[in-house]
Amino acid sequence: MELNHYINGNWYTSVNGQERNITNPANGKIIAHTVDGTTDDVKTAIRVARSAFDQGDWAELCSTERSKLLIEVAIRIEKHLDTIAELEMLDNGKPLHEAKIDVQDAADCFRYYASIIRTATGQTYNTAPALETVVVREPVGVCGLIVPWNFPLLMSVWKIAAALAAGNTIVLKPSEITPITAVKLFEIFDDIGLPDGVVNLVMGDGKIVGNELAVSHDIDMISFTGGTDTGRHIMKAATGNLKKVSLELGGKSPNIIFADTDIDMAVDYALYGIYYGAGQICSAASRILVEDSIYGAFVERFVIRANNITVGAGDNPNTEMGPLVSEEHMQKVLAYIQTGKEEGARIACGGNRLTNMELENGYFVEPTAFIDVKQHMRIVQEEIFGPVVTIQKFTNESEAIEFANNTKYGLAGSVFTKDYNKAWRVIKKIKAGITWINTYHENYYEAPWGGYKESGIGRSLSESGLDEFSELKQININLQPDMIDWFRE
Ligand code: NDP
Repeated sequence: MELNHYINGNWYTSVNGQERNITNPANGKIIAHTVDGTTDDVKTAIRVARSAFDQGDWAELCSTERSKLLIEVAIRIEKHLDTIAELEMLDNGKPLHEAKIDVQDAADCFRYYASIIRTATGQTYNTAPALETVVVREPVGVCGLIVPWNFPLLMSVWKIAAALAAGNTIVLKPSEITPITAVKLFEIFDDIGLPDGVVNLVMGDGKIVGNELAVSHDIDMISFTGGTDTGRHIMKAATGNLKKVSLELGGKSPNIIFADTDIDMAVDYALYGIYYGAGQICSAASRILVEDSIYGAFVERFVIRANNITVGAGDNPNTEMGPLVSEEHMQKVLAYIQTGKEEGARIACGGNRLTNMELENGYFVEPTAFIDVKQHMRIVQEEIFGPVVTIQKFTNESEAIEFANNTKYGLAGSVFTKDYNKAWRVIKKIKAGITWINTYHENYYEAPWGGYKESGIGRSLSESGLDEFSELKQININLQPDMIDWFRE
């Protein structure tokens, strides 16, 4: 499979002719070759996106027509759901059933934004007797979109659907290691005939392609999802023209379990909270906080269930947890496990790479849990982004809240208890943008997604997602124009 850039309605190789290999993380085999973008490739894409925006074919298209095209994208994604899901599984490693959910969610995201642009409203104010103030929504302009590898299609779609709905033109940079489904999405854009230059795709290294999007004075907004350190770099790089910046970053989310909850249910959700996606989820519940009176029982049941998780390749129907996305990322996760041991934490389960039989050449790590952890430890403070969780004891409500908020992150968090007054009290104190009571990972397009603190700036999804990709303009209309006489004649 050969993957090319998509610029101005055409497929292109890179100006330097360089390629890179894309591998299947379940076995290390090469599954595709992709062009490796240069600064010149990005500059070309930005130039055509600017020209398409200025021509206004997309921004000025009536919302009914824009909505119809977004629905058409959703229909085509659903038509090719099985193929796209299989490619996502091969590229990212996730089990096929998880990939299918992602692809269906991607189609739903286009449908969601197709529907809300039909009902998006402005505001009017009768500000003075003969003066009306009207607030209208306008597109920001040319948007650079940079996404990570954990949900390659879905993270692209969260941004693209909202940006296009709002009338912007875009340049997308997928992760250099998982670009395949972005190419499939752009094949769909090509098929349905979006105006040339409205959607552009440039692949390659973040430090080259992504950086050029961040620094370019012809980009009006940068929307980034990825690690907090990269987000910090992008924010600095974007200062040249003070472009709008939206950042969805990392997390170290607490899952607080009180003694009055049903332990088996709490264990069930705790496993789902951390090991879904092999822990490579920004909102993963990577810190479990358990009230001391049930700590021993919780850990015992958690370990039994974690040891039962079937780890394997995504195309094996028995697989419950897939590999990590790359050898480099697996080494990073294994290094954190080593750090945890050196810091004095104790492994309750897992802790190793899996290399038995058919897993031999893949990047598999056992579902891992640390106990005897202390708040200052790196494994408690830093995002590991793998199947590694810490299980920590707390003695009362205020200590639970203190531990929960004591990291630099503020993306997600949850509380498990039968006492809804307590649940409400605690959740209101958690400094995070996405929270749950007696559940985890539930996510709907109707609600905004984003983080507090160093987990990000701005919100995706919902009407807030449309706002992110819009500028608001006030228009003041004088209904009885007359001399103002501010200065003497
Ligand atoms: P990275 O920050 O490493 O990369 C994300 C994207 O940024 C990639 O496309 C990458 O390109 C690009 N990039 C890297 N360096 C630069 C640079 N200097 N300038 C511009 N772009 C750059 O994150 P990962 O891909 O490792 O993804 C994991 C991270 O994403 C985790 O921290 C996770 O929490 C976060 N995330 C947050 C979400 C949220 O909603 N808050 C959702 C999903 C993930 P390249 O191709 O070279 O890697």
